[in-house]
Amino acid sequence: MHSHTDVLVVGGGVAGLASALALARGGRSVRLVEKAPEFGEVGAGLQLGPNATRILAQWGLLDRVIETGVRPRRIVLKDARTAEELVALDLGTDFLARYGAPYVVAHRSDLHRILLDAVRDLGVELRTASEVVAVDVTADAAITTLLSGEQLHSDIVIGADGLNSQLRSTICADAAVPSGYVAYRGTVPAAADTGAGLDDVIGWIGPNCHLVQYPLRQGELLNQVAVFRSARFDRGELDWGGPDELDQAFQSCCPPVHAALSRLWRDRWWPMSDRPPIDSWSRDRLLLVGDAAHPMLQYLAQGACQAIEDGYELARVLGGKPLDLAAWKQAVTDFEHHRVPRTAKVQTTARWWGDLWHCDGIAADLRNAYLREHDPNTFRYSDWLYADTSRSHR
Ligand SMILES: Cc1cc2nc3c(=O)[nH]c(=O)nc-3n(C[C@H](O)[C@H](O)[C@H](O)COP(=O)(O)OP(=O)(O)OC[C@H]3O[C@@H](n4cnc5c(N)ncnc54)[C@H](O)[C@@H]3O)c2cc1C
Repeated sequence: MHSHTDVLVVGGGVAGLASALALARGGRSVRLVEKAPEFGEVGAGLQLGPNATRILAQWGLLDRVIETGVRPRRIVLKDARTAEELVALDLGTDFLARYGAPYVVAHRSDLHRILLDAVRDLGVELRTASEVVAVDVTADAAITTLLSGEQLHSDIVIGADGLNSQLRSTICADAAVPSGYVAYRGTVPAAADTGAGLDDVIGWIGPNCHLVQYPLRQGELLNQVAVFRSARFDRGELDWGGPDELDQAFQSCCPPVHAALSRLWRDRWWPMSDRPPIDSWSRDRLLLVGDAAHPMLQYLAQGACQAIEDGYELARVLGGKPLDLAAWKQAVTDFEHHRVPRTAKVQTTARWWGDLWHCDGIAADLRNAYLREHDPNTFRYSDWLYADTSRSHR
């Protein structure tokens, strides 16, 4: 039998690594188990808002993330049909001064490696090919059973097993909600003729579709994410979102968008789902974090950022407290009090933001008229997400 640890983290994505890191930094003994045969991230780029980069800075990791990534100049929304620039958020000096940390875009695999190295350096025990099938609780401990039959003992279990979390099903009987949208994502050499500005994050927004482009790896690569609503999904077909639907979905878009599509990776695609917010992510000694707790559509680019916030907040509420059941339950109450309303707002706003991006006809004309009038020097719409609201925003 393996030794007892303070914490067992289930899942080696950004959420699991962030929680493992934050708790190990607080002096806890941590073991992390991942079901895949190797640690890693699939996909291409990640945008990291200042709500996440502030935390990475506190953990001493931000410089490394910036070294491998890019600090974009602006976030720009363009009409995908006409190529008109509708609105921009300047990410320069005023943004940095307001939020105390930069906006950074990084390759997922780079962020993942930096977090993995950091947890390894802190002595976290890392195990791959270890699928968790059950978490049971006794008066003294949580007992986590792996597919192999092996049992791991810990004071608490952090469930970071993603959108299709098996551990969530022991807390809540809900299911992932397919959005009908599918994402294609990948990178191309930045020199490729894609029509993108290489120092901005650009969102080309169109009817039932959008394309996001931004630079990665110090500008060597261009990240591209194309997202569209599947007609097959709308017809109730089970097999939906394949590459045969891609070009048709973007047919009303302008030439730069078509140029980008011609260079898109088409060998893999991700049907997008989320779940509605729930009031509690905990059961006895088990607490969910990341997508297992609050899966969201990607339109605000916040899923990984919120997972990083989870790790930070978890370490804060636990402090140096002993992990007896009473202290743990109090810490979970504090954690959920802070995190549930915040992530619920991000989840619901992400859905709404997606609807706004994807509207058509008169709704799109009204949206564009509104966005054109947006004052580029106001932070009114980004403060709720990016400002250091710590304890005061609720
Ligand atoms: C197209 C797209 C673009 C996005 N862009 C952004 C962005 O720009 N910025 C941003 O912040 N977020 C973004 N996101 C969201 C972000 O990718 C996710 O929110 C984040 O990666 C979730 O991390 P996680 O660790 O919670 O889950 P996951 O990354 O899914 O990790 C869960 C891990 O748990 C493991 N696991 C599952 N079950 C078990 C088990 N039973 N036992 C052991 N291990 C298990 C899995 O193998 C996996 O490694 C985007 C998402 C998409 C789809």
